Amino acid sequence: WSSTNFPWTKELEAKNRNKFGNHSFRPNQREIINATMSGHDVFVLMPTGGGKSLTYQLPALISSGLTLVVCPLVSLIQDQIMHLSQANIPATYLSGNLDWSEQQEIMKDLMSCRYKLLYVTPEKIAKSGALSRLLDNLNSQGHLSRIVIDEAHCVSQWGHDFRPDYKSLGVLKQNFPKTPVLALTATATARVKEDVVQALALENCIVFKQSFNRANLRYYLRPKTKKCVEDIDLFIRTNHSKECGIIYCLSRMDCEKVAEKLRDCGHKVSHYHGSMDPMDRTHIQKLWSKDKINIICATVAFGMGINKPDVRFVIHHSLPKSIEGYHQECGRAGRDGQPSSCVLYYQYSDYIRVRHMITQGVTEQTGAPRDLSSHEQALKTHKDNLLRMVSYCENDVDCRRLLQLIHFGEKFDPSLCARTCDNCLKESGWVEKDVTNIARQLVELVTRTGHSHSSTYILEVYRGSMSQNVKKQRHDALALHGAGRHLAKGEAARIMRHLVTEEILNEDVKKSDMYGSISSVLKVNHLKASGLLSGKHNIVLKFPASD
Ligand code: ADP
Ligand code: ZN
Repeated sequence: WSSTNFPWTKELEAKNRNKFGNHSFRPNQREIINATMSGHDVFVLMPTGGGKSLTYQLPALISSGLTLVVCPLVSLIQDQIMHLSQANIPATYLSGNLDWSEQQEIMKDLMSCRYKLLYVTPEKIAKSGALSRLLDNLNSQGHLSRIVIDEAHCVSQWGHDFRPDYKSLGVLKQNFPKTPVLALTATATARVKEDVVQALALENCIVFKQSFNRANLRYYLRPKTKKCVEDIDLFIRTNHSKECGIIYCLSRMDCEKVAEKLRDCGHKVSHYHGSMDPMDRTHIQKLWSKDKINIICATVAFGMGINKPDVRFVIHHSLPKSIEGYHQECGRAGRDGQPSSCVLYYQYSDYIRVRHMITQGVTEQTGAPRDLSSHEQALKTHKDNLLRMVSYCENDVDCRRLLQLIHFGEKFDPSLCARTCDNCLKESGWVEKDVTNIARQLVELVTRTGHSHSSTYILEVYRGSMSQNVKKQRHDALALHGAGRHLAKGEAARIMRHLVTEEILNEDVKKSDMYGSISSVLKVNHLKASGLLSGKHNIVLKFPASD
């Protein structure tokens, strides 16, 4: 597909220069354009900042008819149209925000082919009869040249950003079987990709995939302590003074608290979350885009549709919900290719908190579960995604890039990291230890104490605590009481957490009291534990060599 002998090559290169001001193509851009121009269905996986927009905007310009672009957010659409109109490219959009007469005007202009690109939100496709008549008309006159699905991963329930309206986009292929479809996304595991291809009914589609490694981003994981915000303040002042960044927080309240503390430290900062007035949100995003404020403390509601190229840092104040989501959120840093930092503050107890939120969130989304099996399946997927994220955080030896890219089915040579992640920066290297015996003892302790205690408590007993509570429960009389006394600090905890991420032990959320604090108990998953207990499976973990 990289040929420069296609009938459109000359015009393509000229328009890339004159209309977009680019001197060359980025990886895969030319190939994608050639494939879609040849009339194929195309699926594109390209990391954020890779230059996806050009792969449909240029074809739109050099094709005769209209290109339909489905895009999840109006703010994203407006941003694109602003850029296009600056380059004198006729583009417009239809959304619920416009009043009837405006819509009529646009429809008329669309019929007379005044525009090259039409952006719509997915609910328009699902609900607007006028739009579907317009597309039918254009199509019967041969004026519908291409259909583009941006952020195509939103089709998939397994992705981190499922949007129900995307499900209905399959009708496009039904109604316009001859029109080439171009699906674009910056996140897709193999499973999400299959979902997208199926839901959009893509035929013999050509897939372009490139490495998701973002060489200009540096990844650091730091322990989250009570002094987390002080640490963030110091990090920003030392490395990114007066530069621009995003701090992702778990809850609305966290956003406000973190923002307030940083403001006290002298930063220009604002919070941003879903329960704010939409006007206020737009206002804050504008201030940030224009560098009037440097830092936004936000929930993940702040993200898609941010095109600021010079974001220098993305900080996660709490555990992200999945590796995919984490990669995507970090991807908002350094779109201009300049070095940028991603810092993740991790403490194991956030796992329980996030899991609790996921359980509640899924119940809210699906309501009283009508279809129990799909509800449970969705919940299970989210929990699995979260466990993979915990496992990423618990790993303190392997290259962060490698750990992220494995998740996208990519191999990565860690020497290419060149010490740009916290694990590769460690001097000491690592050693492997067989911890099968300790793991077995921990599982047995969970059983002996009746599957009704927290991991903290189990560890206390294992290390030989004589606390009031231990004595009251008579767990000081257990044979395994104190069996882990000799272990280095944190070692048993690390093994315990490994057992959780491998689902040999499950953390069951017990209750959330009226103050919102959550407690959990450990239970043995007998199915998964059997290999360990019967001696069939050994557990070998890597530890930093200095330990
Ligand atoms: P994505 O949608 O993949 O995140 P964008 O389409 O927003 O990426 O492009 C990211 C940035 O790269 C934009 O500022 C865009 O102008 C720039 N860009 C895209 N293609 C090229 C190119 N061939 N040469 C130079 N800059 C490019
Ligand atoms: Zn590394």
